[in-house]
Amino acid sequence: MLQLVLAMGLRYPRSSRGIRVKVLVVEDEPAIRESLAYSLKREGYEVDTAGTLAEAERRLEEVGLVILDLMLPDGSGFDLLLGLRRRERPPAVIVLSSRDSEADRVAGLETGADDYIVKPFSPREVMARVRAVLRRAVREREERPSPATGLTTDPDTRRAAIHGASLDLTRVEFDLLHCMLHARGRVFTRAQLIEKLWGDNFAITDRTVDTHVKALRRKVTEAGGDPSLIETVRGVGYRVSDGPLQPASDM
Ligand code: CA
Repeated sequence: MLQLVLAMGLRYPRSSRGIRVKVLVVEDEPAIRESLAYSLKREGYEVDTAGTLAEAERRLEEVGLVILDLMLPDGSGFDLLLGLRRRERPPAVIVLSSRDSEADRVAGLETGADDYIVKPFSPREVMARVRAVLRRAVREREERPSPATGLTTDPDTRRAAIHGASLDLTRVEFDLLHCMLHARGRVFTRAQLIEKLWGDNFAITDRTVDTHVKALRRKVTEAGGDPSLIETVRGVGYRVSDGPLQPASDM
């Protein structure tokens, strides 16, 4: 029975309000666009497609996830990504690109993409990523951490701040901070962070975690926070430090 429920949940992904999640595929190559749309529909998603940035802009209504090609006939997918980040409730974004350089990957994640897939890819791989990103996006957390470090995260509004100064974080950076802040002093291994943020997505590497943590730490520092607040525990992982280290029994 449980397995049936789980299978149904995967087959007909719904938001917390029970509405089917709408996915917008932005890709100018018809073969890739149609194959993605086909796979997504088969998984139970509501699907819309766009071949240009202009078309995509007109189809963003009610969209929960955008699968976004970077090289489009009328511009770069990065521009759409930047525009989405200014929205109050931005959809999740998976960037799709044939450019697989480290610089593009980092730029994609730092611009606010939730995940990054390099062409060529298998539909199976994309569906696994879509499920992981959406699971993370709809997961609502009720607890609110106390502001002992000067850092605060509010899972309802997804706003983060340090000493009252708001931090402009991507979805992943927010989740990382919220997760570690709520268990201040506890060390999280990269594998634990991957499990918490991406679920069973086997394609996420330690390096991805490092990239997001680095970006998060930079933003905290730029907003006046101490760089050691987001602490690297050599050979183990990361933690949000809270002044004097907590004894092991509290972890
Ligand atoms: Ca393209």
